Amino acid sequence: MSNVEDTIGMGLSKIQDGLDKSKNKVGSIKEVSKLNKTIEDLSAKKAEVLLEVGINVYKKVREGLIKDEQIIEKCKSIVGFDYIIYDNKRKIEELKKENEGFLCSCGNTLTYEDKFCGGCGKKVEIPVEDIEYINCNNCDMNINSDLNFCPCCGVKIN
Ligand SMILES: [Zn+2]
Ligand SMILES: [Zn+2]
Repeated sequence: MSNVEDTIGMGLSKIQDGLDKSKNKVGSIKEVSKLNKTIEDLSAKKAEVLLEVGINVYKKVREGLIKDEQIIEKCKSIVGFDYIIYDNKRKIEELKKENEGFLCSCGNTLTYEDKFCGGCGKKVEIPVEDIEYINCNNCDMNINSDLNFCPCCGVKIN
């Protein structure tokens, strides 16, 4: 082999080396993102299972089946969250109801601002709810006294 060919050969093998190395680099980056993807997927699944376990534990706490003070204490914050969530949902319902209005006996839709029905001319009487309210002794939410369970925190009422 001449010196020139040697030099070219060495040059080529260096280039090949470089290609192999960058191929390895790409390979390992792919490998890392694959591993990360698995970690992400399993972490999401784990969070799902933990949530399910938590929901079941909280259900048992409400039923009085769990006596562990630490768990009971931790669950107390949920009652506060439930209260605000329920209260906000109720406000949304009320706002929706206000927007939808209500029906006159003639079938015409009335708003809460109407004084007289536009359909039959009758004086508008805003329907009153015939519901007796009590306060839940767990979360203090104002709730319908006919219910068996608090719709806010899930505790047994009657
Ligand atoms: Zn009417
Ligand atoms: Zn309650």
